Amino acid sequence: MARNERSFIDADDVGILDSPEAVLSTMNKEGDRRWLYPTPSKGFYYWWRLAVGWGLIALFVSLPWITINGKPAVLLDLMSREFTLFGTTFYPTDTLLLLGFALGTLVSIILISAIFGRIWCGWGCPQTVYLEFVYRPIERWLEGAEHVRARRDEGPLTFDKAWRKTAKWSVYAVISVALAHTFVSYFVGWERLLTWMQGDPRDHWGYFVMMAGTTALILFDFGFFREQMCTITCPYARFQSVLLDPHSLIVSYDEERGEPRGRGKERSELGDCIDCGACVRTCPTGIDIRDGLQMECVACTQCIDACDDIMDKMGWEPGLIKYTSEKALDGEKTNIVRPRTLLYSGVLLALTVFFVGLLWTRPTYDVNVARAVGEPFMVLPDDRVANRIRVRVRNQSATEARFTIGAEGIPDVQVNPVGPGETVLQPQEMRRTEAWIVVPPDVLERDRREVTVVLSFDDGTEKRIPFPMLSPHSSEAEDPEAINHEASPS
Ligand code: SF4
Ligand code: SF4
Repeated sequence: MARNERSFIDADDVGILDSPEAVLSTMNKEGDRRWLYPTPSKGFYYWWRLAVGWGLIALFVSLPWITINGKPAVLLDLMSREFTLFGTTFYPTDTLLLLGFALGTLVSIILISAIFGRIWCGWGCPQTVYLEFVYRPIERWLEGAEHVRARRDEGPLTFDKAWRKTAKWSVYAVISVALAHTFVSYFVGWERLLTWMQGDPRDHWGYFVMMAGTTALILFDFGFFREQMCTITCPYARFQSVLLDPHSLIVSYDEERGEPRGRGKERSELGDCIDCGACVRTCPTGIDIRDGLQMECVACTQCIDACDDIMDKMGWEPGLIKYTSEKALDGEKTNIVRPRTLLYSGVLLALTVFFVGLLWTRPTYDVNVARAVGEPFMVLPDDRVANRIRVRVRNQSATEARFTIGAEGIPDVQVNPVGPGETVLQPQEMRRTEAWIVVPPDVLERDRREVTVVLSFDDGTEKRIPFPMLSPHSSEAEDPEAINHEASPS
């Protein structure tokens, strides 16, 4: 069946999936795309998935607008290398925290997959949520039911076909633009995005290129590529054989109950599957769940709803296709607590303790003292020696902070700030300031050459940072690497 041939699956051609040439559910034997027209099955699971899906869409759209401690709930500012999550900003210096968060997320996915199978794919993945609950309903609204669309698609170009396609792609484009802006706002923030949108395009051409690219990708994915994202591209599906085991939750056909399948009136020798094809027609990845667990199955539960509806019409018990596990299908007990789930839970607990511990003990101020760029030292007219330092402080608290710079460790050491003596930092703000450290003549020759820079904050916090002084007597004065020395709080 070529792309422009009828490819809506009737009960009579469900068998196409059983042909030896059927390599992929979305490809026909000629190697062309088999365009799918999955029919919706509005049963028990559908309505729950619809509610969850729209809840996630609402969350996705609103998160960048929600502020906590004056910051967006989520802002992944790659340009500034600052990552704000629920009011807390992480910086490149928080490498361990970010690593703990990333590992925790990974282990959570592994644990959830081991217990609940591909529940993420069927219920939470944006690919499923937006395709099934936004893009396909629009298609159905503008182009009609599945069999109508299939027939129209295989027919010639008419006015009716043209305006419907144009209207659909126009609505798709508008939604894709809105989604692209929402997506990009996670990385630049809505305030900056609104400024760019209202400004002269020539001042923000990069923004337009980025937005056009993101919109095009979204449009291509949900308008054309669709289920192939799950069956061909997504790496998560490839890990299924490793992540799932016989105890994991899967969507499965009860072969013992259903076989031998058939449509005959004399049912005494047949199983409960009447071979109606409803489960195949509704499948968004085009597979036949009766062939067993397959990588293409995204556990969307549509075949459960479709089959339950058939069972209801036949006056039989639902559950010929159901959420179950391989163990349960074999008549054995499904265990949620098993060695691998215990191991994953233990690792997740350890990572959570590690993350919370690091967050709890995270210093309020991230401080760095370095030698200022330029002349490493200066001999003043009264023979005192001055070294210029550069101080970088990040206020990691949720309140305003002030600090002054002092020094100790050498008698009569003085600090002359470059600029105001007190520096004010807003919550989460990072500022740089500079100061001269001045010591008496000859002291560096006779005595210790290291001073302690003291940053005194208005909340009583003191940060003490050792800093090596340079003078005409220092051999390091000739060494550029020593001159560029940076110091952090000890
Ligand atoms: S929907 Fe149920 S009865 Fe119909 S073909 Fe699928 S498994 Fe058989
Ligand atoms: S086989 Fe069933 S659960 Fe799996 S993708 Fe198809 S409809 Fe969804």
